[in-house]
Amino acid sequence: MEREEMPCDVIFVGAGPANLAGAIHLMNLIEAHNEAVEAGTKAGEVFEEPMIMVLEKGSEVGAHQLSGAVLDPKALDELIPDWRERDDFPVERYVERESMVFLTQEGQIEAPWIPPELINHGKPIVSLGRLCKWLAEIAEEKMANIMPGFAATELLWDGDAVAGVRTGDRGIGSDGVPTDDFEPGMDLQAPVTILGEGPRGHLSRKVIQRRNLDADSQPMIYEIGVKEVLELPEGSVKDGFVAHTLGYPLDMDTFGGSFLYTMGGDKVCIGLLIALDAKNPHMDAHLELQRLKTHPYIKSIIGEGKVVRYGAKAVTIGGWASMPQLYTDGCMIVGDSASFLNPLRIKGIHTSMKSGMLAAEAAFEAMVAGNSGAATLSVYKERLDDSWVRAEMEPAKNMHSNFRNGFVGGLVRTGVQYFFGPGSTTQPFHADHCHVEKITSYFADRAEPEAIEFDGTYLIDKLTDVYYSGTTHEEAQPAHLKILDTEVCATTCLEEYGNPCTKFCPAQVYNMRPNEETGRLEMQVEFSNCVHCKTCDIRDPYQIITWVPPQGGEGPEYHTL
Ligand code: SF4
Repeated sequence: MEREEMPCDVIFVGAGPANLAGAIHLMNLIEAHNEAVEAGTKAGEVFEEPMIMVLEKGSEVGAHQLSGAVLDPKALDELIPDWRERDDFPVERYVERESMVFLTQEGQIEAPWIPPELINHGKPIVSLGRLCKWLAEIAEEKMANIMPGFAATELLWDGDAVAGVRTGDRGIGSDGVPTDDFEPGMDLQAPVTILGEGPRGHLSRKVIQRRNLDADSQPMIYEIGVKEVLELPEGSVKDGFVAHTLGYPLDMDTFGGSFLYTMGGDKVCIGLLIALDAKNPHMDAHLELQRLKTHPYIKSIIGEGKVVRYGAKAVTIGGWASMPQLYTDGCMIVGDSASFLNPLRIKGIHTSMKSGMLAAEAAFEAMVAGNSGAATLSVYKERLDDSWVRAEMEPAKNMHSNFRNGFVGGLVRTGVQYFFGPGSTTQPFHADHCHVEKITSYFADRAEPEAIEFDGTYLIDKLTDVYYSGTTHEEAQPAHLKILDTEVCATTCLEEYGNPCTKFCPAQVYNMRPNEETGRLEMQVEFSNCVHCKTCDIRDPYQIITWVPPQGGEGPEYHTL
């Protein structure tokens, strides 16, 4: 099979905030270098028409971005200092009011004081999808190449050095055989590849595994975030308001919380985060989000709303402790793929952007030196250690382990570490799936919570919400969710865990249905519903589900979430 080959100088995989900031910063560095060389103030060669490539698997930049909300502009101030003056900066609102609230079953307790790190007053509320589109436009103005609709599915290797990526083939039938529309993917070759694929990156995991990059770090751990945008009656949303809640609907053993913020027009976004190490084998974040909306405090804010958008995504919460070695020969890892979210602040856009910018500096040095070995790229980690990212993230390194044995003890431990520092110790933790309990143990002294009555506008069932995510996939292609052995689903997993994937998947991809001939319950995978959240890859107790990228350009269409 003939594959097109495209030589590049640097490839960024994923058009999220880390890589787009990296691409802009790299183009700035190249421009400054060329000007200095041409002016004779710097030795070296001019980079004529450098090929800086940004690949994005979504149909367009921003389509797969579901996050953010309140942006800490620290990295943006460094990258685009005049962003506040620019008319095209995509701000929804600026935060004017905020609160932190603990929800009991029926009531609420408002925190009298918000720790300085969590104060958002004056910060911009953004849609990450729109922010990424804006960054992509700036990168393109600087002559970076942005290629949406192309999923990088394989790494190219030169010995043990990463040498680029291969994009996915198109036009393969569901039986795995090429159809008449078959188009082979391309090989993009480059001395430096920067992986910013978001949480649980498909290629990042491969390079971490092959080069043993996580030998000295804790496992990556995650939360699932589900969110909806609701439209309220005209004129109801008057200012920039942000609320964070703890407590209901989560029990004291489950780590997580909710967020609510106002957007442009009369829209409000509400979301719920639940740690994927939740013991409950029937944990269902979508259902808990609906339950949260029945709480009187939440209803008093958005009770007249109608759901118009939905999305779900895993986020990393291991922070500094889970960061793998960030570089190897020919490759660096940035953003959520390398656990750059600060779990204490529940913010990661600014730290991710900075990671991309520091990786860009290392890539630039590799271009100048003509050497992209690990020793050259290690400048990324050196500069990270000297940056505000380390100063901000390292003190929060034990954040999640503090809550391992419940909410109250976690608050106390976090409070002590907040004032006195975490010390030099990192409390060890385990991969999320290890904590899921078996049905007989978890439900020995608990009952399943009461069912929810959906009304189709405010309280929405899962499949209707999937419709609001805009997700589409070509049905005639191999499923991008690979279950190693579906016999496990029909036997051991059903008996021991009650098939947790049928609950935790926020898009109802996994369904146990009776076999027409035998009546036995068997797994059916409706992959076209998948919103690419990666939860199944992370939380499946048997670790037999693997998420791989489907054809480029498919999946959710978040844009404005
Ligand atoms: Fe998320 Fe997996 Fe469900 Fe897709 S199939 S939506 S990746 S849990």
